[in-house]
Amino acid sequence: MEDSTVESTEPESALETARRQLHHAASHLDIDQNIVERLKHPKKVHEVTVPIERDDGTVDVFTGYRAQHDSVRGPYKGGLRYHPEVTRDECVGLGMWMTWKCAVMDLPFGGAKGGVAVNPKELSSGEKERLTRRFAQEIRDVIGPNRDIPAPDMGTDPQTMAWLMDAYSMQEGETTPSVVTGKPPVVGGSEGREEAPGRSVAIITKQACEYYNSDLDGTTVAVQGYGSVGANAARLLDEWGATVVAISDVNGAMYESDGIDTAAVPSHDEEPEAVTKYADDVISNNELLMLDVDVLIPAALGNVITEANADAIAADLVVEGANGPTTSTASTILADRNIAVIPDILANAGGVTVSYFEWLQDINRRSWSLERVNDELETEMQAAWEAVRTEFEQRDVTWRDAAYIVALSRIAEAHEARGLWP
Ligand code: NAD
Repeated sequence: MEDSTVESTEPESALETARRQLHHAASHLDIDQNIVERLKHPKKVHEVTVPIERDDGTVDVFTGYRAQHDSVRGPYKGGLRYHPEVTRDECVGLGMWMTWKCAVMDLPFGGAKGGVAVNPKELSSGEKERLTRRFAQEIRDVIGPNRDIPAPDMGTDPQTMAWLMDAYSMQEGETTPSVVTGKPPVVGGSEGREEAPGRSVAIITKQACEYYNSDLDGTTVAVQGYGSVGANAARLLDEWGATVVAISDVNGAMYESDGIDTAAVPSHDEEPEAVTKYADDVISNNELLMLDVDVLIPAALGNVITEANADAIAADLVVEGANGPTTSTASTILADRNIAVIPDILANAGGVTVSYFEWLQDINRRSWSLERVNDELETEMQAAWEAVRTEFEQRDVTWRDAAYIVALSRIAEAHEARGLWP
């Protein structure tokens, strides 16, 4: 990290976190232990070798994975990442997270995650295309519109998904847009997909503020990260009347106590790391986390609220925009301090929800307007919020536990209804 953002003192692997959350939620529910045992493990993990020809004519060999966790509620769904630290266990853990995320949103999907252990910054566009096409070929038998539907993640983007869709379609002999989501709209991508995770963070923040009887007008918000999630959430909340007092990039944070004109600051996509360039007053990312605001939205990276700084968090409400921004020790400290934390699997689930809309549009060969996408997203987010709120109130648990309880009960009920075969 390039500024004083506190590094995690309790690094947690995605797999450990996913398993711990499973046990936590299971302890509140009367479900068959055999089902819990099954859910601790992925259904299948595919490991493939991906050789590609580099631009200089040499050949490099990379390792790719696709971990498929649970498909009791429908085909597997989850991102594909290109990152040097992609491992089998990371894919398994993140695949499990996707199972919970899809279930809390009541989407007819199970969880998966995959990727290639490669540094995409060291690949030319041509090399990235060859890697994607060869990886698509290696996993072709295990993906498909009714089997497993990949999407973009770290190091991959709509163009990567277009190549993957093309490679798959060429081999199948028919154009199959519904094999991946997060594609460019011209080849079957959905309007509103890019903004969806940030939009869902904003919708859930609005719901949570209403729940705690505070009007968005006059609510102060600090957002860490000004990328796809952070900038879209900040701009919508600003538009809906909240006062966004702080936003940040990797180099530090802009702070304006009277409120930032969020539309005037370029997002990471529009101009990388521009926040600090446009700021009069720069504070550190760690100072941003400690600001005395009504709502704190960590939307940059994981493990930023830790044992080391949880005691100093001054916000009344934390809405997780990033995946896993709060370590489990920090979650306990915040719960003891009565600071509500709305979990990632609910707050940023707009991405996978609009991916589901994209899949529906592709299957029906009929695209939706942006207005329809946003309306339906709002409806889905509200339904998920209501389900989680009900558990939160009835069981007197944290918001995170409530979300996992909703997810796990749906998955367990589906397992019970389908039974164990043979
Ligand atoms: P992005 O690359 O668009 O933006 C990341 C932002 O974080 C940038 O403003 C960058 O400057 C800032 N940043 C990077 N390192 C930082 C650091 N050390 N300290 C402070 N700020 C830093 O990324 P994104 O797509 O907005 O994703 C952000 C988080 O949200 C990730 O945890 C991601 O997994 C999660 N998420 C993304 C999506 C999605 O579809 N984009 C969906 C769900 C969850």
